[in-house]
Amino acid sequence: MKRLFSEVYLHLIAGVIALGILGISAHTLWMDRQNTWQEAEKASRNVLTSIAHDLDGNLELLDLSLKGAMEGLRYLGIQQLPPDLQYRMLFDRAVSASFMGTLLLVDEVGNLIADAGPVIASRSLNVADREYFIAHKENNHIGLYVSRPFASRTRHGDLSIGISRRLSDSAGRFAGVVMGSMPLTTINQLFDNLSLGQQGAINLFRNDGVLLTRYPYDESQIDQDLGGSPHVQRLLQKNSGTFDSVSPIDGVRRIISFERLDKYPLVLTVALSVDEIFSAWQRKALVLSLVTLILCCAVVGLTILFQRELKRRTRAETKLRRIARTDDLTGLPNRRAFRETFEREWRQAIRSGSVLSLLFVDADYFKSFNDRYGHGRGDEVLRAIASTLDTNIRRPRDIAARYGGEEFAVVLPETDLAGAQLIAETIRQTIVAMGIAHEGSPYHVVTASIGIASVQPSRGSERATVLETADQALYRAKAAGRNCVRNFEDGIGSRQQRHPHAAA
Ligand code: GH3
Ligand code: MG
Ligand code: MG
Repeated sequence: MKRLFSEVYLHLIAGVIALGILGISAHTLWMDRQNTWQEAEKASRNVLTSIAHDLDGNLELLDLSLKGAMEGLRYLGIQQLPPDLQYRMLFDRAVSASFMGTLLLVDEVGNLIADAGPVIASRSLNVADREYFIAHKENNHIGLYVSRPFASRTRHGDLSIGISRRLSDSAGRFAGVVMGSMPLTTINQLFDNLSLGQQGAINLFRNDGVLLTRYPYDESQIDQDLGGSPHVQRLLQKNSGTFDSVSPIDGVRRIISFERLDKYPLVLTVALSVDEIFSAWQRKALVLSLVTLILCCAVVGLTILFQRELKRRTRAETKLRRIARTDDLTGLPNRRAFRETFEREWRQAIRSGSVLSLLFVDADYFKSFNDRYGHGRGDEVLRAIASTLDTNIRRPRDIAARYGGEEFAVVLPETDLAGAQLIAETIRQTIVAMGIAHEGSPYHVVTASIGIASVQPSRGSERATVLETADQALYRAKAAGRNCVRNFEDGIGSRQQRHPHAAA
């Protein structure tokens, strides 16, 4: 019972330790994952902010050039000036910045009035078919217009986007367009040298969902109208935000941060691959899981080992205790065990007020048996007598013990004198009935004498007196000729101390 209890405790403690280890590593991993996610979000927002800032700056300069040209044109009126002066009037504010492609002024039918830029365009240019020209011609209130990417006629077919404004005459009628182009390559330069990982992406959309350019650059995807895709619509509805989504193009799950530019109809997105973000974390998780698993296995293993050791010890202790209480020769309980049992039964008899009987059984003429048949044969006889005693006591609490030498003691709890006499007589007869030849005895077979003491002990009684009484009864049996049973009442008056070990 006690052992079972301690085993339950052992399992409980092992379980708590294993669960603790599991809990701590799960918590650590979870926190780490949250952190990684937040860091990635922060990183993509930072990238976004910096690109948006650069793009904003470039566009502002370009728009400034457009406005300068418009002002110059108004100032020029219909005057005819030499080409170089005319050029300076129109494009004085035009910044010859590296990001800029060409700056064109066209009239109301799309014919080139003037141009500026790194490459001088052919004089017979007409842009009436261009999207931006049509947009301004048809709509008075667009303000600044960003075109879809087009192959530049002035720059060997490089893809550019155009930033344009409408020209109006004094009556407010459509008078043409001023347009500055920005090659995609110059925009793409803004996206270089950003650490976005292998599967990171940047997209620049017009606010109607047309993809203007992207990183990594892929010309086949440029100029697609993705305004119908729910994925893109999500970007176009708010000014900025972050969400994660699986790309409909390559199936890669990404964290996407997006931002609408303040002054321009453009939306910029930065996307980082979730797999890449978590790849370091995943390695860590794998290592930590393995370590956790090993630790948990170690706890379980140690618990099993500990339990086995505990069982082994308990078994060994039990065995030792049994050996310490057993007589080697006969296998009966020894004198120590007898004393323990007797004391226990004595106390029990006091509590229950019952009668306790004690028998002393002593082999007769045994010294002479040894002398005649040898000590080895004598041992065999002692074993035979022991088994006789063992078979003749029936109740579970009865105990027969080897008291010493050729003497045995039998404790019979809750047995009165009459009952004890019956058992004693049976034992005596059984020993005789074994018929072991003993020529040194007047009975010619091995016999034993038995002394009985029966008492109803009370709190004041001395245990030793019962042993003494049984011993005296045994002496009387010897005196009466041996091979007989006597009790403390028989032949009172012939008390004599014969067995010095009676005071156990
Ligand atoms: P009594 O009839 O008066 O009891 O005579 P007894 O010879 O049996 O008594 P005594 O006490 O004089 O001798 C006991 C003998 O029992 C001494 C010894 O030879 C023998 N004996 C004691 N222990 C053992 C034992 O373990 N094995 C054997 N074989 N003999 C033993
Ligand atoms: Mg004897
Ligand atoms: Mg003896």
